[in-house]
Amino acid sequence: MNNLKEKSFLAVTSLLTAEKASGRFMAFEILRRPTRQISVGHVKIGGNAPISVQSMTNTPTQNIRATVSQIRRLEKAGCEIVRVAVPDMDAAKAITAIKKKITIPLIADIHFDFRLALAAAEAGADGLRINPGNIGGKKKVKSVVECAKDRGTPIRIGINSGSLEKDIIRKYQGVTPEGMVESALRHIQMFKEFDFENMKVSLKASDVPRTIAAYRLLSAKSDLPLHVGITEAGSLYPGIVKSAIGIGMLLAEGIGDTLRVSLTRDPVEEVRVGYEILKALNLRRHGPEIISCPTCGRCDIDLLHIVEQVEKALIRSSVPVKLAIMGCVVNGPGEAREADIGIAGGKGTGVLFRKGKVIKKIPKEHLVTILLEEVRRFERGREDNTA
Ligand code: SF4
Repeated sequence: MNNLKEKSFLAVTSLLTAEKASGRFMAFEILRRPTRQISVGHVKIGGNAPISVQSMTNTPTQNIRATVSQIRRLEKAGCEIVRVAVPDMDAAKAITAIKKKITIPLIADIHFDFRLALAAAEAGADGLRINPGNIGGKKKVKSVVECAKDRGTPIRIGINSGSLEKDIIRKYQGVTPEGMVESALRHIQMFKEFDFENMKVSLKASDVPRTIAAYRLLSAKSDLPLHVGITEAGSLYPGIVKSAIGIGMLLAEGIGDTLRVSLTRDPVEEVRVGYEILKALNLRRHGPEIISCPTCGRCDIDLLHIVEQVEKALIRSSVPVKLAIMGCVVNGPGEAREADIGIAGGKGTGVLFRKGKVIKKIPKEHLVTILLEEVRRFERGREDNTA
């Protein structure tokens, strides 16, 4: 075993050395697993559709004003599908009014009571998320599926490690990836018996290795579109790290058609993190990508403050520009050769550069203003080219 590991390590190392010597580097290409396509409202999921970014409101759904206001903020941040909790009939009925004031598809999240799923579908939800394991017996599941079939509403079978069926926990002596997949397949089969295939599946656990293992297993056995995420990932730092590793690893393997990052935080942050994961893997471009150096002893400008100012100014921008904000001219432009536009600090002055080439010197107090002007110029250039 050790020999094998050593051999494959050596093989990779020599390949990399050869690539380096030839001046070429291996392109990292993600091949998405083929899945069927479904539509949640106007958003397509699966097949060759872009991997969509979802979030979930944390307002009481029956508080229509607060929920609409949060969804509008999510829309502005680029959220493509929103989910709302439906814990009671008031929440289910509120969906009709909410839908009239938003533009993105809305999914109703249902647990325990199948009548809430029926009411949410009647109220105009674009999709239902149910955990068939806690919705009641087969008859109740069937009535939800029949209702969804009549209305053309897709359903997400949402398997959660915290609510796995008892017989499966007994069989696998705990909550295991195999058990989560068995639960999913059991429900997929049940839906198919009801002649219903307009579905996607999620298999969420709060720990990363189990989630990854479960999705890998299911993806090998089913071509249904997959909603990926790490559930209850935690507050900002642990949540971002767990999600970036868990969702990122799956996406890098081609698994996942839509995603939700879960954070104990304003859901707008979830959308931001979702896009950052997709951008980091070159799976989607959304708004500016900012590269900034960690700074070192050569840095003579307040880089942290500059980055914060630029991020704030561009938070709602949809211009797909790659920006570099570097601490010094020694290595800055060279390190950020791939950037469309960049600035690098110096003593008293800084420089503006494009694609690694220095264009002009700028007084350092004007670095932010000039960079933002260049972004607008870049945007106008794109508009002219596409007109
Ligand atoms: S760009 Fe300059 S300041 Fe930033 S880390 Fe590199 S050498 Fe240091």
